[in-house]
Amino acid sequence: MNYVKDIPVIGKFDLVICGGGAAGIGAAIAAAERGVNTALVERLSFLGGMATAGFVNPMSEFAYNGRFITGGIPRRFADTLIALGGAQFEEPRCNLSFDPEVYKLAAYRMLMQAGVTLYMNTFLSDCVRENGILKKVIISNKEGLQALEADYFIDATGDADLAWQAGLEMLPQCRDRQPGSLCFCLSGVDTSTKRMHIIHQRNHRFNHQAVFVREKLLALREQGVYVPQFGGPWLATTMNDGCITVNMTRSPIDATNVQNLQCAEAKMREDIFTLVKLMREHVEEFRNCRITAIAPSVGIRESRRVKGVHILSGKEYVDCVKFYDSVARACHPVDIHLPGDEGQELTFPKDAGYIPFRSLITEREPNLLIAGRCISADAEAFAAIRVQAPCMETGQAAGVAVAICKADGVAVQNIDITKLVAEIRKEGSIIE
Ligand SMILES: Cc1cc2nc3c(=O)[nH]c(=O)nc-3n(C[C@H](O)[C@H](O)[C@H](O)COP(=O)(O)OP(=O)(O)OC[C@H]3O[C@@H](n4cnc5c(N)ncnc54)[C@H](O)[C@@H]3O)c2cc1C
Repeated sequence: MNYVKDIPVIGKFDLVICGGGAAGIGAAIAAAERGVNTALVERLSFLGGMATAGFVNPMSEFAYNGRFITGGIPRRFADTLIALGGAQFEEPRCNLSFDPEVYKLAAYRMLMQAGVTLYMNTFLSDCVRENGILKKVIISNKEGLQALEADYFIDATGDADLAWQAGLEMLPQCRDRQPGSLCFCLSGVDTSTKRMHIIHQRNHRFNHQAVFVREKLLALREQGVYVPQFGGPWLATTMNDGCITVNMTRSPIDATNVQNLQCAEAKMREDIFTLVKLMREHVEEFRNCRITAIAPSVGIRESRRVKGVHILSGKEYVDCVKFYDSVARACHPVDIHLPGDEGQELTFPKDAGYIPFRSLITEREPNLLIAGRCISADAEAFAAIRVQAPCMETGQAAGVAVAICKADGVAVQNIDITKLVAEIRKEGSIIE
């Protein structure tokens, strides 16, 4: 079918960022604060992506063995949340547990302060290339189809929607895609017991699984009780007494296939009620708990990843290979959740690993950068750098890069790397 229609160009910007999760937020603040006329397109009505829509808590992880490795905008964002009484760092990894509503508020305020133009409730649907370069994005919302024109674009959609629409090459999956999880919030949990202190105990070698819940559920299954597939469970405080977020459902999922996404979500919604009933009946701390909310969006660990100039490998990450163009650091283990069962594979890096700028750009597009979980990394490296602090840091790097490329009039492939790294350090990043 062919469909021809005049689509109004409703705005012209230096930069259009698609996606308002951790990466998009970092990118927007970094660029707009440097005088880049920036617009951000977000399909939901609030910012935060997985952090707020997926109930993914905490924001991992700012420190390695008690030493901060993430500074810059992610740290400034964390400090803003803390100042608002909506977050706390947990030593020694400095995971940031936060109240998702405070997160939304803080992100919105920071973007407004920086002067970002927001297109919320607006879906990136397509893009237009002219004379070999990306020129416009086609967005859709209650006003119909519209176009935004820009000199530069950042794909921070998590699913690489913009890069995919532009026809860029995606990286192959190395093995089964990691499962999705529909997270939820419980109130009325007795968090005062010794074994519930798990929600505040996250050190480097300690997996914050609620092992006592896991063992009980597995024992029930052994006895023939129907227990849906689950992972963890991983519990986190939302800063509200007796209220926790729970990450435990899991389902194979293809977030880029709407029917598959819907079926997986429906299944996990059923599973939540079954699992909570079992926990109320069999685990003391959960006896009086209630489901207060289920995340508005399914938690997507893995979907598309763009093939960039450099494909960060798991080996490079674990060995902490330092690149001449390192722009972000991460120290989360290579954390592979297995889709078929309750398992998880963890490989710890030797120290904090590095992410090169070349993983944020492609060979072909002179004015497109990728930020967040869809950057160019193999399945193993991806399984580490997908957590929120590094996602926001790659966003920051992409935003700073646009400011430099715009000022110097160069393609992203020709950026002055020394200048980029110096500017990122000036922002407070700890790229040693
Ligand atoms: C179950 C689960 C548990 C996790 N646990 C942790 C953890 O404990 N700690 C941690 O730090 N990380 C954790 N992560 C990983 C982390 O949450 C994400 O990888 C990270 O938040 C990704 O950030 P992002 O900005 O790249 O993408 P996202 O947060 O996915 O943001 C993308 C944004 O783009 C928007 N968008 C997408 N497509 C379009 C479109 N076409 N048009 C307009 N807008 C669009 C989305 O609405 C969203 O707001 C977990 C993830 C999952 C799923």
